[in-house]
Amino acid sequence: MVPASPRLSHQKLRALQTVIQARLLPWFATHQRDLPWRRNRTPYRVWISEAMLAQTRVDTVIPYFRRFMKRFPSLRALATAPLDDVLKQWEGLGYYSRARNLHKAAQMIQEHYRGRFPRTYADIHALPGVGPYTAAAIASLAFNLDHAVLDGNVIRVLCRLTGFDQDPSRQKTKQGLQSLADRLLVPGQAGTCNEAMMELGAICCTPSSPTCKQCPLQSVCVAFRTDTVDQLPVPRPKKAVPHKEVGAAVVRDDKGHVLIAQRLATSMLGGLWEFPGGTQEPNETMPECVARELKEELDIDIDVGDRLMIVRHAYSHFTIALHVYWATIRSGTPCPIECADVRWCTIDELRTYAFSRADLHIVDRLCANRG
Ligand code: SF4
Repeated sequence: MVPASPRLSHQKLRALQTVIQARLLPWFATHQRDLPWRRNRTPYRVWISEAMLAQTRVDTVIPYFRRFMKRFPSLRALATAPLDDVLKQWEGLGYYSRARNLHKAAQMIQEHYRGRFPRTYADIHALPGVGPYTAAAIASLAFNLDHAVLDGNVIRVLCRLTGFDQDPSRQKTKQGLQSLADRLLVPGQAGTCNEAMMELGAICCTPSSPTCKQCPLQSVCVAFRTDTVDQLPVPRPKKAVPHKEVGAAVVRDDKGHVLIAQRLATSMLGGLWEFPGGTQEPNETMPECVARELKEELDIDIDVGDRLMIVRHAYSHFTIALHVYWATIRSGTPCPIECADVRWCTIDELRTYAFSRADLHIVDRLCANRG
């Protein structure tokens, strides 16, 4: 049977715990990066940084985190802000449900906990958008509760340390690795232990070309000893990524205004603004697709003009080619039928709305064309 977790004798587990305490923690004390959320640490700052860091690189997050903290310096400021402002601060960071959940959770904390961040793992986990990883990170980093985090960095370190050669993306395997991470925690020092493991994975035990010579855990690392570092962790089986051809229109009026629509809160990228359009259907030309989509979404008949641009974009689970056309209204008045709202705005005003990354390319082009 395929093992779901690394098999370690009690003796080996003790040896690992000893080395983590004796070498990894001192290594972390001297090598950790100076990151903005490590300064003036509060539960609120930990929460925001962890939400931003999920699926996103540290370098990308730093300017977002600084801007967000300036605009929403406290939980109360976030809870009382309009959702549009929160989405605008999140613009370009992707996975927008994170921003919507932060806003909703901040309001919940104001209401149910009188603005005081919940202090138990269960209460933190119950907040909207907080999964087991984020709950463990907040519980340990903000309150030093004994919960181990298991992110991509920690998974890589654990697989290499123990020579574990099973696919770590399987649910069962993840549970096994979580249990190992829990057992390796130094009681009472969960926050530091978790950060040290994640930092080791981020700056030393990197996916390619890890710097094993400088690694504080080298003496107990199975992958290093057996020369299998390059083979671990076992890569997850590749799946074909679906692709969609999508059409959108920049509808202009004779005063130079353009038409934008707000996506339904329940849809992907919910609450963001976009140039209206949708996915091409079989046996349909792209101009036909754009005209049909605007009829369905806004109840207008349009004349589709020249193509403005094509935007290619990769989401986490599919890719798109977004074909953007100029258009004018032939008949009808735009109504939000399959969207939350619809507005005419000037090119200058476009920058005040929150758009997805793909639509931001269109905004950039329109602003550049205006000269
Ligand atoms: Fe990773 Fe190399 Fe350290 Fe092993 S010795 S934990 S492979 S950096």
